[in-house]
Amino acid sequence: MTKLEHNLVNLQQRIADAATRAGRNPNEITLVAVSKTFPAEAVLAAYALGMRNFGENRAEEAAEKIPLINQQLQTTALTHHRTIELPTWHLIGHLQSRKVKDAVALFDSIQSIDSVALAKKLNDRAAALGKKLSILLEVNVSGEASKYGFAPDPRETFVAAVRDIVGLSNLDLQGLMTVAPIVQNPDDARPHFRALRELRDQLRIEFPDHPLPHLSMGMTDDFQAAIAEGATIIRVGRAIFGERTSPGEG
Ligand SMILES: *Cc1c(COP(=O)(O)O)cnc(C)c1O
Repeated sequence: MTKLEHNLVNLQQRIADAATRAGRNPNEITLVAVSKTFPAEAVLAAYALGMRNFGENRAEEAAEKIPLINQQLQTTALTHHRTIELPTWHLIGHLQSRKVKDAVALFDSIQSIDSVALAKKLNDRAAALGKKLSILLEVNVSGEASKYGFAPDPRETFVAAVRDIVGLSNLDLQGLMTVAPIVQNPDDARPHFRALRELRDQLRIEFPDHPLPHLSMGMTDDFQAAIAEGATIIRVGRAIFGERTSPGEG
């Protein structure tokens, strides 16, 4: 067994255990493999082991990797006369407006929408390409100054932003995303995850036509706490690919 395979088997067991403890079905939790800073070969190896959802946090890096990986998979499929299921690519990091065009072309889902202005730019670009883009709104639940994301309060301001965004016809709002603060004990992240779920539940009442099924929360150090609080998407890098040698921030 390769190190990667060992990591994935181990992680999937820990996800299943966390789901069972929470009385949830592990199948309702999507694992996004966060491949930032790792080379295309690592992504292809994870794909071969069954991974279909990948997360990148920088448009520049994604522009180099995603076409290369998709092309490689397509070539392999052609050689073997098979049809190919391309990975679903998630953008999970802050997007600068000058990278909107690239991002719409590269990604299937943008989890890191952090302003109405950005949503409008993405919508315009998606419309130009005749594409409907799946999105999540990033919420800065903990209020840390270093973090991107909508402030959940004042609530009327946030709800007004959501109202503007659900009106954009080439975006499909699927739910909320957050990055919890780094804490000593992962259970200390739970109140932040719970706050995101409660915020989603309130939005459902405000926007009954939008079920907002997804809560993207939980990473290598805190995914069990996130699953306990209702995560439907977890974003895990290090527990799959190993420690990063560069931070991959941005
Ligand atoms: C890097 C990153 C992750 C994955 O973090 P790990 O600690 O490697 O699991 C998840 N979400 C976001 C937004 C990230 O930038």
